[in-house]
Amino acid sequence: MANLVLLLTCCNFYKKMQILRDPGSCMPLSFVSQWLNEISDQERFKIITYNSLNLVPLQENDFNLAAKKEYKEWIKNLTNEDSKKIHLLIQYDVDAYPERTKKLLQVNEKYGIPANIMIFHECHSREKLKKYNKLELIDYEIDYEYLKYLETKGFVIGYHFNGYERALFNIDLTSKVFIEDVQELRKHFDIKYFSPHGGVKDMQGKTNPHCVIIPPKIMKSIFWVHNGKSVKFAKTYSDGGITAKLGEYKPLKERSLIDFMKNMEPGKRYRILLHPQYYTDNYIFSEYMAQSAEWYYNLCTKYPPKV
Ligand SMILES: [Zn+2]
Repeated sequence: MANLVLLLTCCNFYKKMQILRDPGSCMPLSFVSQWLNEISDQERFKIITYNSLNLVPLQENDFNLAAKKEYKEWIKNLTNEDSKKIHLLIQYDVDAYPERTKKLLQVNEKYGIPANIMIFHECHSREKLKKYNKLELIDYEIDYEYLKYLETKGFVIGYHFNGYERALFNIDLTSKVFIEDVQELRKHFDIKYFSPHGGVKDMQGKTNPHCVIIPPKIMKSIFWVHNGKSVKFAKTYSDGGITAKLGEYKPLKERSLIDFMKNMEPGKRYRILLHPQYYTDNYIFSEYMAQSAEWYYNLCTKYPPKV
């Protein structure tokens, strides 16, 4: 009997530990907070948003050409003062756990660092789509009021396109989902930019970015800024798929944000894309990531998980 009680106590303790850690997280929020503090140094950095750039589509769907033209003009018009600073654009893709994005945004707000926040109109279960080809909408409770307030502070809200998935890979329905999403989001925000979510592959290996059909009605009022087509930067950083063990991503040891920051030069512009769901103070330390990259091990040693 005593053994059984002990066993149950151990199991409960283990379960509690699992529950206490934030699922899907792998990085310390304190690290990003510290980073935001560093880049709030206005002597060294100039924080920009997509609104700071003169992004005008030239003709139908010609985003890359428009982006190229904008970049050329941006370099040409750089003032002497601006050429002494590192220009940084921060993008947050809100794929899951919107409450974690809010926590991070509160740090951005504290340091006066506007970010570009890409949100879905509706979020669905990746697992259900992948395993059963079914669409199941899931909780995605974004604090619209807070985002609206941030918009007044220079933050930018954009559309994170997941329309090909939500149309169950039916290309003919994709454009309908696109326009409905944008129209709904525009009831709350000034949506002028979009970025496709990576997401689940169809039978041919295609994902949202391969299957973007922009409805002609809004072609001139929305700019494709990232993933598939892109605004131009000297270099970009993304933590996308940082927990993935295999696949198309760069090796983890080359994906340190600290190393990326070290190689920046004044007078150039850079984009840093983060997925806020990875960052909490109660994160799950990944043995695999620690074995793959020293920078990750060092980061977790400096900012250990708090329970
Ligand atoms: Zn995404």
